[in-house]
Amino acid sequence: DHGLNEADPDVRAIINKEKERQFKSLELIASENFTSRAVMEAVGSCLTNKYSEGLPGKRYYGGNEYIDELETLCQKRALAAFHLDENKWGVNVQPLSGSPANFEVYTAILNPHDRIMGLDLPHGGHLSHGFMTPKRRVSGTSIYFESMPYRLDESTGLVDYDMLEKTATLFRPKLIIAGASAYPRDFDYPRMRKIADAVGAFLMMDMAHISGLVAASVVADPFEYCDIVTTTTHKSLRGPRGGMIFFKKDPVLGVDLESAINNAVFPGLQGGPHNHTIGGLAVCLKHAQSPEFKAYQNQVVSNCRALASRLVELGYTLVSGGSDNHLVLVDLRPLGIDGARVEKILDMASITLNKNSVPGDKSALVPGGIRIGSPAMTTRGFTEREFTAIADFIHEGVKITIDAKGLVSGSKLQEFLKFVASPGFPLTDKVSD
Ligand code: PLP
Repeated sequence: DHGLNEADPDVRAIINKEKERQFKSLELIASENFTSRAVMEAVGSCLTNKYSEGLPGKRYYGGNEYIDELETLCQKRALAAFHLDENKWGVNVQPLSGSPANFEVYTAILNPHDRIMGLDLPHGGHLSHGFMTPKRRVSGTSIYFESMPYRLDESTGLVDYDMLEKTATLFRPKLIIAGASAYPRDFDYPRMRKIADAVGAFLMMDMAHISGLVAASVVADPFEYCDIVTTTTHKSLRGPRGGMIFFKKDPVLGVDLESAINNAVFPGLQGGPHNHTIGGLAVCLKHAQSPEFKAYQNQVVSNCRALASRLVELGYTLVSGGSDNHLVLVDLRPLGIDGARVEKILDMASITLNKNSVPGDKSALVPGGIRIGSPAMTTRGFTEREFTAIADFIHEGVKITIDAKGLVSGSKLQEFLKFVASPGFPLTDKVSD
């Protein structure tokens, strides 16, 4: 049996190139991170060979003695990492990723065409929270359920809870979804709980982006107010790619969430769990309970604040004026440029971030903003000092974009590439393959 070098040099070469790209770029995509070598080892292990449809102790295949042990350990660690009482909360660690986890919740507690309300995608929400355009139901969530988004107050960049309350009173959703992909502030869970209770809706939080911050208690705790909490496992939590669904054990609105959600995951929407991922997740959740993890998440938030305050110093407009978490959203429209061009120019200098729509945008393809996140480079050892410098780099890229008006050439660009080529940053070698 050969290793990858001999068995498939083509794939090995591609992995090497990707590793090099990850190593040398400034990775600022808010949903990405560098997971640990230990997680990678578990994900690349023999756990991938095993079928284990069902739950620990209730499997449809033999030979699951150790898989049962692993999944039970992973569940226990998941509850401990989020400070949950095992008598009150349960968790399913089998969702293959964040979008399937969300759809599993919807099918567990709703009937087809029941009504849901999530944050609109152009205002920071996620596709899987029910995105649709006036012309098209884009996400499966909006095809199979009736979706009415809530939005931000464009003057403050904060969720417009008054409007959410008014709309919910008329629309009467069965589910209200908190959580976002591009929202730099905490959600007001007590307010959302009140609104959900007033209309008889479930309240779910999709904490995908901030689950690491929640585990480290550096942002507000959604578990105090929500019935269900979903998450991906590969963003700020720094685990393998996957998903989890946490649910209250006591029935909510007459629904036994535990059996409804477990059945929705399997056999409703999935088959065999990805045991290698569950292994990697268990490793990540052990680490998530350590003092180093808490220190890391504190640094993620401090770094993001340093980045935000330097950007403000440089004259940038940030959606909501700043950040309480791991990301900032820069509104570039006052400068007369868009996020797509800035993303492209920065990419040429190995600064990786993404264009993002900002409240009031007309186009999702050429949106007016960029989203910048701190988790990945904090894993690589960056502190406030480097994040302040990152703001300066981005500023240089923006100036080039303004000068070039989209023309990606010229001596200014060459100067810029030279400028960012030798930052002298203390990068730690955290890119494992
Ligand atoms: N939920 C939120 C808030 C997200 O930001 C994302 C992904 O970015 C997802 C869910 C979906 O996760 P996945 O890409 O794993 O399906």
